[in-house]
Amino acid sequence: MVALDKTASVINAAGTIVIKIGSSILVDDDSHRVNAAWLAGIADDIAALRADGKNVVVVSSGAIALGSHVLGLGGQTLALEEKQAAAAAGQVVLAHAWSVALAAQKLGTAQILLSPDDTETRRRHLNARATMSTLLSLGAVPVVNENDTVATAEIRFGDNDRLAARVAAMISADLLILLSDVDGLYSSNPRKDTCATHIAEVTTLSDSIMKMAGTANAAYASGGMVTKLEAARIAMSAGCSMVICDGRIERPVAALAGGGRHTVFRPEDSPLTARKRWIGGALTPKGTLQIDSGAEAALRKGRSLLPAGVVAARGKFERGDLIAVENEAGQIIANGLSAYSLADTQIILGHKSREIERLLGYRGRDELVHADDLVMLENSN
Ligand code: GLU
Repeated sequence: MVALDKTASVINAAGTIVIKIGSSILVDDDSHRVNAAWLAGIADDIAALRADGKNVVVVSSGAIALGSHVLGLGGQTLALEEKQAAAAAGQVVLAHAWSVALAAQKLGTAQILLSPDDTETRRRHLNARATMSTLLSLGAVPVVNENDTVATAEIRFGDNDRLAARVAAMISADLLILLSDVDGLYSSNPRKDTCATHIAEVTTLSDSIMKMAGTANAAYASGGMVTKLEAARIAMSAGCSMVICDGRIERPVAALAGGGRHTVFRPEDSPLTARKRWIGGALTPKGTLQIDSGAEAALRKGRSLLPAGVVAARGKFERGDLIAVENEAGQIIANGLSAYSLADTQIILGHKSREIERLLGYRGRDELVHADDLVMLENSN
């Protein structure tokens, strides 16, 4: 019963959940087609989470496996360009299958293809984060995959475990569920070692935990435990919990919520604290915004910085860059990510947010620095 309560509480407490689904679960080994019955089950799971008021993002593999069949490439080992061609053909089939399955639950589907630059470069990171949150607020389910058709080996995430963790970090998700072909982490490879014991909970990725995954070349590791632990590191440092559980069953999330066997990785911080730490510990600010006393008072209450409260902007920054916020006395009181470039900031500063569209010719964010992207500095009181 303890296990049931604990698992249910990880899911219950989560406002935003990322679910990662591997090719081996989604694509039928024999027919090389989408396993429609399984997909209908997970769509049911997603609808239940949505009905509970949760945001759900799916990271789905399967493009290459599906596309190889569509293009008649068969089971041979594929060259890079063949894999990319397969991904291009298969992504269409994959996105269609998701949109049909989710439509049966009256949910909209939105396809998002990402490259590492989209999560690593701040400007693109902010864009991808904003798009994702807009889709979620409109009730759609974003279905994410790597942009395999253009990425070459050096600029790939390479596997969807890490991609899913980056996505979870980017959107400040509370929980990442990796639906896998194993029900969690074991002290050693359970397929080889009958004495391997299941690890129910991990709070620190110590050396001894990392060793449990084996080396990247070991058989167990090719099942993906090494990349799963790397995903756990990314998720945990973003304040996101991660669960590894068996996804091969029907309605795997319902089974998990009902106490199904899994490993949970629990971070110390919440996603918001971790994001703020990331911003607070970020590199040198690229510019400075000087604000008036009204804006300073608002910031100290945890509000966002609006253009109306900014009196001057200097430096050289683009949208998404780190900037310092200075009060009237010239004291640096906060760091944050700017939603506008220096050039655009100079045009909109001192103005009401509703004037932004007229001044810039496009409708950007109301906030110059959103509260979630702003960290008050200690000793600034
Ligand atoms: N992006 C690949 C695909 O959709 C899968 C990569 C992975 O599963 O790790 O086929």
